[in-house]
Amino acid sequence: MKTAVQKKTDDDTYKTHTDYSEAPRHDGAQSAASPRRVERHCVICNGGCDDDERLSNGTLYHRDCYRNLARDTYNRSYLIKVYRGEIAALKEQIERSQSIFHTIKNIFFGNGYNVHRLTARIEVLQGLIQENAKERYHNISLLKKLYDFWPTTPPDWSFRKKAVLAMQTVCRRCGSQRHLVVVYKIPLSEGGSHRIDNLEVLCKPCSRK
Ligand SMILES: [Zn+2]
Ligand SMILES: [Zn+2]
Repeated sequence: MKTAVQKKTDDDTYKTHTDYSEAPRHDGAQSAASPRRVERHCVICNGGCDDDERLSNGTLYHRDCYRNLARDTYNRSYLIKVYRGEIAALKEQIERSQSIFHTIKNIFFGNGYNVHRLTARIEVLQGLIQENAKERYHNISLLKKLYDFWPTTPPDWSFRKKAVLAMQTVCRRCGSQRHLVVVYKIPLSEGGSHRIDNLEVLCKPCSRK
């Protein structure tokens, strides 16, 4: 990551674009004050950020903020999966306790309290899932904004590629359905982003022209 940024900084084309084009293309509201000045705040925590990591549109972020954001998103996905698994197991348990064998057994020993307790636990888990899903969604929207201008191939590149290929099933130029590739409309070297609206589908021969 560090070396990639360093390498790009040496590139004159890249320099030109970070000097002049970062502020107008940033869709946040912070850039209104001085369009030519590079944003000095971390886009994640909004804290001062003189020089940590820089996106291709000039946006800055703290390496640690990004790491925490990515880790938090991963953890929440994991928790949601665990909670869903637990809910499935509890539902199975409730179903089993309502089978004929258990119903007869429960006439003597009772299970009302047990089912009630299991149902209550399911409700708690559903609440936790909702909470985590909300935060996860928020994180992902922020990560997506970062990855739009990621200085190298963005970590969510395969999702972007799939999304574009789902929308465009033929070559934009010749209509071919074979050997399709996803390419940039405005190349990265000319200030293009990884945003979906800057991607299109061409066949391999057309992409080489
Ligand atoms: Zn930060
Ligand atoms: Zn073609």
